[in-house]
Amino acid sequence: MIYMDYSATSYVKDEVFNEMAPYFKDKFGNASSIHAMGREARKAVDAAREKCAKAIGAKQTSEIFFTSGGTESDNMAIRGVCAAYAGKGKHIITSTLEHHAVLHTFEEMAKQGFEVTYVPADEKGILDMDAFKKAIRPDTIFVSIMFANNEIGTIQPINEIGDICREKGIVFHTDAVQAMGNVSIDVDKLNVDMMSISGHKIYAPKGIGLLYVRKGIKFNPITTGGSHERGKRPGTENVPGIVALGKAMELANDNLDAHVSRMIEMRDKLIDGIFENVPHVRLNGDRDKRLCTNANISFEYVEGESLLLNLDLKGICASSGSACTSGSLDPSHVLLGIGLDHQTAHGSIRFSLGDGNTMEDIDYVIEVLPGILENLRAMSPLYELEGGVKNV
Ligand SMILES: *Cc1c(COP(=O)(O)O)cnc(C)c1O
Repeated sequence: MIYMDYSATSYVKDEVFNEMAPYFKDKFGNASSIHAMGREARKAVDAAREKCAKAIGAKQTSEIFFTSGGTESDNMAIRGVCAAYAGKGKHIITSTLEHHAVLHTFEEMAKQGFEVTYVPADEKGILDMDAFKKAIRPDTIFVSIMFANNEIGTIQPINEIGDICREKGIVFHTDAVQAMGNVSIDVDKLNVDMMSISGHKIYAPKGIGLLYVRKGIKFNPITTGGSHERGKRPGTENVPGIVALGKAMELANDNLDAHVSRMIEMRDKLIDGIFENVPHVRLNGDRDKRLCTNANISFEYVEGESLLLNLDLKGICASSGSACTSGSLDPSHVLLGIGLDHQTAHGSIRFSLGDGNTMEDIDYVIEVLPGILENLRAMSPLYELEGGVKNV
């Protein structure tokens, strides 16, 4: 199997698994219990919280709230701030390219009486900064703009957005699920107030994540229960998951430079190899301001789903659209958002690389892809009609 779908999920690294494993059986205590077993679990949670804070440049461990993953963190930030600051204003801003965890939550906020502005991106997938600045109003209380896009990999000017929000006194949240481990992140330098991270995109298990909340930012809890996570996220702590996330974030930070340069080498070889060997292709998203792991490519005259199935038959796992939207027939809102027509959007494939990939994997994909495309295009009447070679 050649797995190139790391933006959908990653495997759990051995170092992460080994650190987490004892907390399932031998050290299974409840971190709220006051006996020795409980204190052991509490100590592990505290140590993990410290690692997570350090990995993103958070000044205090009390700024880290453990959650069940990226979706819950996004919900906690958006719903929590809207509830806490509604008295100050009811206008909130996001982008058209966000993950559904953010977009659908903003839609819900609109139903609850908040006014939402969706800022568009340019054809490269970068936020339109002029439109963003114009969208800000005196009653704007909250901005959520993703750090890096999960489909086309574009990295947004988070620093610039953070500065503007800070100056205007607006709470700024970023979904950094895809950025963590692939981009250097320092919440202080970036003026980020809230940030979502997910474990299963960075070699920890599924079902664990965190929300960073800068000291002084208010947010109401979206669930009620005990006093866990300082009352902001009640429920018995997922101790093994938390331990795993701490280790995964520490590893991500320690290995960042080596990881990024290895991924860029593979990503660029993949993109160049496809462009050299296959006609009628286009790269989606900015060429440079993109995740080191992402190659999202449109293949004209083919259905993305057919291409995906043919790749699967050759043992290659990739994705058409995001994992959340594949399975539905709607084209990706991100690809339409950067101006692709429906047909081109439907012929798009995301290859997302990770630490398990090798240069041989890239060679193999470049070797089998031209044949698959020739076969599929031979069956396409449009290809016959328009023919010729034109790479965009
Ligand atoms: C995967 C993903 C999420 C959702 O995270 P889960 O932990 O799966 O809930 C949110 N945002 C982005 C950008 C993602 O890629």
